[in-house]
Amino acid sequence: MNQPLSTSATSAAQAQDHVDNARLQAAIAALAAFGGRPDGGVSRETLTEVDLASRRHLIEQARALGCEVMVDDCANLFFRRAGQRNDLPPVLTGSHGDTQPVGGKLDGAYGVLAGLEVIAALNDAGIETIRPIEVVAWTNEEGSRFGPGTMGSSAFVEPSRLAGYLDSVDKNKVRFGDALQTALASTPDVPRCAMQRPMSACVELHIEQGPVLERAGIPLGVVTGIQAVRWFSVTCHGMMAHAGTTPMDERRDAMAAAVPLAQKLYDFAAAEAASQLRLTLGRWQVAPNSVNTIPGRVEFTVDMRCVDDSVLDRFEAFLRAEVAAAGEAMEVSRFFQREPTHFPAPMLKLIEEAATRASAQAGLPAPMALTSGAFHDAMYVADHCPTAMIFVPSKNGISHNAAEATDPRDLFLGVQALAYTVTALANQEQ
Ligand SMILES: [Zn+2]
Repeated sequence: MNQPLSTSATSAAQAQDHVDNARLQAAIAALAAFGGRPDGGVSRETLTEVDLASRRHLIEQARALGCEVMVDDCANLFFRRAGQRNDLPPVLTGSHGDTQPVGGKLDGAYGVLAGLEVIAALNDAGIETIRPIEVVAWTNEEGSRFGPGTMGSSAFVEPSRLAGYLDSVDKNKVRFGDALQTALASTPDVPRCAMQRPMSACVELHIEQGPVLERAGIPLGVVTGIQAVRWFSVTCHGMMAHAGTTPMDERRDAMAAAVPLAQKLYDFAAAEAASQLRLTLGRWQVAPNSVNTIPGRVEFTVDMRCVDDSVLDRFEAFLRAEVAAAGEAMEVSRFFQREPTHFPAPMLKLIEEAATRASAQAGLPAPMALTSGAFHDAMYVADHCPTAMIFVPSKNGISHNAAEATDPRDLFLGVQALAYTVTALANQEQ
């Protein structure tokens, strides 16, 4: 690595052109063998034995590429390729290595392996960047074994959160804190690194997990932000009574109050289709939940999401007004909210440049801007350093399913766009 440094754009293009699709596909297949299922899916929940084995596999792969390997207190793994100025904060890329109980080969794994492929491409191209580059495999993004999700990235950016996660237990009553100690003990040869270390920028490459890119026939998406979310619990009070003997006009039926409210919420969401408001009334609890008793109490949850917080403000005001109009018969409380994430414009501009070059070379349409409907590690990292995401299409919009798939051509183009972006960022001294 001692040839003269080319200009930033030239080395970014060189890195992009050295991405090797066969090597990428082989790496995806090799990691998918850890927890691989006969139906083509992958079961690799966080910190299980198979997850720990996959981590050792990743460590070997990264060391073979010349990376230094480090792990932090939340067992987030970092694979570091040195730069010319190792005193400068690195550029970060990567994603998570864990899956849902039944997931696919790509959700998370693709972003980690893409980062390693970028390093392999830089090695092949003989490029030495100014800043170091680190590939991260975050712990427990999925949240299916231990809640909540995105533990690793959220604890990295705010280490005080970790203490609150340690007593989370899985269905076999294993504590997260104990699983974490086992994981850290399983890599005694890997030095510990600090949480909350400065990073100059972060780019996460991920499958879309929705249908937008596929429908548009566009291989690469520039993710402009992540939707805001608010969760509510609505309770309707009635009086339990006999389903056969109580006349209809003498009932206080909690379900008869809940259903019209639910319909009004769906109507509101339909009227806001242009703002891409998403509404889910996902959990219903009916008391006594008996076929022949009038419901005395109905409680349901409201999950509302939109990238535009003002739409959620209006929706919340509407919900609260409807509940207030019912007097003491209804109550509503908000039990979770997350503000929208807007990725910074300079990052989006660079990703657009990278994705446009990759798509044009393949004779495919230019990238499109879209927002993420799902949470990602990048959402938390965005609180720590300039962060953005790249999406590739998901076949039929499916994920968290063994049928999750992406055209290998699109997987290749995604890594090409990532290679360009990461290399250009790693050559920015400021
Ligand atoms: Zn994911």
